[in-house]
Amino acid sequence: MRNKPWSFAGIGMLTLLATSAMAQPPATPLTQEEMFRRNVGTREEQVTPFSPHPIVGNLYYVGSYSLSAFLVATPEGHILINTNWERAVDGLKTSVEALGFEFDDIEVILGSHAHGDHMQGDALVAQMTGARVMAMAADVPALERMRPGDKQHPIDRVLQDGATVTLGGTTLTARLTPGHTKGCTTWTMTIDENGESYDVVIVGSMGSNPNFQFVNNPDNPTIADEFKQGFRVLRTLSPDVPLGSHPAMYGMAGKYERIGDGPNPFIDPDGYREELDAVEALFREVLDRQEAEAAAAEPR
Ligand SMILES: [Zn+2]
Repeated sequence: MRNKPWSFAGIGMLTLLATSAMAQPPATPLTQEEMFRRNVGTREEQVTPFSPHPIVGNLYYVGSYSLSAFLVATPEGHILINTNWERAVDGLKTSVEALGFEFDDIEVILGSHAHGDHMQGDALVAQMTGARVMAMAADVPALERMRPGDKQHPIDRVLQDGATVTLGGTTLTARLTPGHTKGCTTWTMTIDENGESYDVVIVGSMGSNPNFQFVNNPDNPTIADEFKQGFRVLRTLSPDVPLGSHPAMYGMAGKYERIGDGPNPFIDPDGYREELDAVEALFREVLDRQEAEAAAAEPR
């Protein structure tokens, strides 16, 4: 954010926060299983639309209780980030229309990463709207294996790290944050609201799922290095508005409750770092454990 009215007070405050954050580690870090459950929610939560709502400027939430979908609405049509499960597409359409937009005006479909819960609906939404699907190169093989109802996964433009997507005056930048999938993508953009500019980051996911094998993984021998690369990239970002592929990654439900009282609740730069710290600590812990187990299993 530029031109913060509270910059002077902010400096002292930040020092205090930094000191207290260092002094006390988080009370009870989530286990791998708890973090996974927190993010993916129940089957019901994955498909039930959450009240669609404005986040900042022309950026809106149109996802479910546990799977994020974001709409960037512009005068030249809209960008949809995440189509989620194909069976949830009806709910997605209802949410877009409830905000007063036409589903048919979606021109571009982007995604967080090549897992069915985030991108399975791409083919159907592309069919319904004629939108172009753009995906990170390293996720293309996984997307090509995603064929709901035997539909081919549409890919109209292949992206590399740093690629930009512009529509109607809004530009999104694709950052490769691999690990969770090879082409896991974090989207960054600058959004204006009431004469202020806000840096927005939609984290693709750095989740260490319970079935992930970081050591001696024959399917992906470099997975641990990819995770480390993903964290390195995310550490270079400092968004005003942190978002993620699952609403729990940015405490959406609590922030939604605070819409309308006081400043925009989605502006939460500290929240970005806290979540990143928690998710990276979990990754390091799982990696250490798996490395120790692999070493113990080795013949001497
Ligand atoms: Zn995933």
